[in-house]
Amino acid sequence: MKPVNLKQVLSIFGLLLGCHAFAASQPPNIVLFLVDDMGWQDTSVPFHSERTPFNDHFRTPNMERLAKQGVKFTQAYAAAVCSPTRTSIMTGQNPIRHQVTNWTLNKDGETSGKTARLQAPVNWKRNGLQPDAITLPKLLQGAGYYTIHAGKAHWGAHDTPGSNPKNLGFDANIAGHAAGGPGGWYGKTNFGNNSDGTPKRPWGIPGLEHYYGKDIHLTDATTIDALKAVDTAVAKGKPFYLYLAHYTVHAPIRPHPPYDDNYKGKKYAGTNIPIPSVEVSYASMVEGMDASLGQVLDKLDELKVAEDTIVMFSSDNGGLSYGARGKTPRNTGRNTHCWPLKAGKGSAYEGGTRVPMIVSWARTNAANPRQKKIPIAAASICDAPNICEDYYPTLCNWAGISDLLAGREDVDGRDLTGDVTGEPPKITPPLLFHYPHVWGPRGPGYEPHSSIRFGDWKAIYFYQPQRWELYNLKDDLGEAKNLASTSPERLKELSDRMKIEHDRRGAQYPANRETKKPEPPVWR
Ligand code: CA
Repeated sequence: MKPVNLKQVLSIFGLLLGCHAFAASQPPNIVLFLVDDMGWQDTSVPFHSERTPFNDHFRTPNMERLAKQGVKFTQAYAAAVCSPTRTSIMTGQNPIRHQVTNWTLNKDGETSGKTARLQAPVNWKRNGLQPDAITLPKLLQGAGYYTIHAGKAHWGAHDTPGSNPKNLGFDANIAGHAAGGPGGWYGKTNFGNNSDGTPKRPWGIPGLEHYYGKDIHLTDATTIDALKAVDTAVAKGKPFYLYLAHYTVHAPIRPHPPYDDNYKGKKYAGTNIPIPSVEVSYASMVEGMDASLGQVLDKLDELKVAEDTIVMFSSDNGGLSYGARGKTPRNTGRNTHCWPLKAGKGSAYEGGTRVPMIVSWARTNAANPRQKKIPIAAASICDAPNICEDYYPTLCNWAGISDLLAGREDVDGRDLTGDVTGEPPKITPPLLFHYPHVWGPRGPGYEPHSSIRFGDWKAIYFYQPQRWELYNLKDDLGEAKNLASTSPERLKELSDRMKIEHDRRGAQYPANRETKKPEPPVWR
């Protein structure tokens, strides 16, 4: 018989007592619950200054539960599509700097379309994030965390090392690989793999073979396995970082039973408008996602680690508002899925980038030493703008490793600890959006663009028409009134600032299709 070491004895002793071996000096556990393509209005939690009809349509009781005990962010942002945001979360860098400016899939593959004159930047990082990066989970691993990836990775292309989360600092990987959408949602169809169980490229979900043929939804399977990995971490007596990045509510939009029963054959709240079948499915996906959040919170309670765990809820881009969604929700017209914001995922307008975000302790207890250190303001609202690259320095702070970022001039993000404790800065740095690509759909703002938000003002540059637009978001959240010609000085100020921030980070620009030369903005 092998001798049992002291650590094992303590661990077994802790399990027998039903308590965890979690020393007071340990940093908090962190859950980053990231939903895919969830819009700012796809929830019963109002993120607008007033309740909207969509808040009455969607059911997200667990988001409500989290918001009641934590901070709701009304002006949280991400990039306009998946991989840029996910890479920013992993690196703390803005897409301008990390250069994964579009979504990725196959090695050396081009996912960007072209305009009449322009193509994608010549050297954007088509293979995505790779192991040479100093990723957030690597830093957390170094600080003693057990790091768990569950769900959608979508930061490194197929046939590259970056496609596997384990090569980027995760101890465990559940269902994550190169692709950004599921080949199938159901165990019955092997989550999009072949019927004989062999993998199907590029969309078949990996690593969930034990559910093949079973009546289970991908969101539920991912949650179950993610929580098993949390069991492992707790049994080890280690703090954990759970990056639970669901594939839902990304296309293909299909029902998540049994939640579709809550919308089938029904009308939009307070109207006589029947809910179209695609929106029945979408709402069921949102509710299924929310149920997963509830399962996570309940599990943390069950393991008696809820007081020691911070949950950050967010989405990786704005809500889908074309194609796979219904053409006109509530009969309000095209591109109104994110109303009162304009357009959706992929667009330069607010619907493309503004996301729901909540940060809270999984269970509040002001006497808990970890909560004393990071006193997250309960039932509060933070209106200070933030963006996805801010999570990196924030989580490093909470993990007690901010010192590792000293002198790291490649980190663009801002530490949000003051924002969650009720002391946000009065002036926040400009937010930068950079999408020099053609994503696909036609419509408002779905074209190569860069924008900058500073204070209440937002300037957008569209590369193909070489056109600037300017909005005051405080007065005009729906970006209806372009002030570029009436406020030229304000526009120049923002154009100048955008140039400085682009130059600092080495921005790549759309290339002319003929000459292959980059075409930077025509600065004001
Ligand atoms: Ca996405």
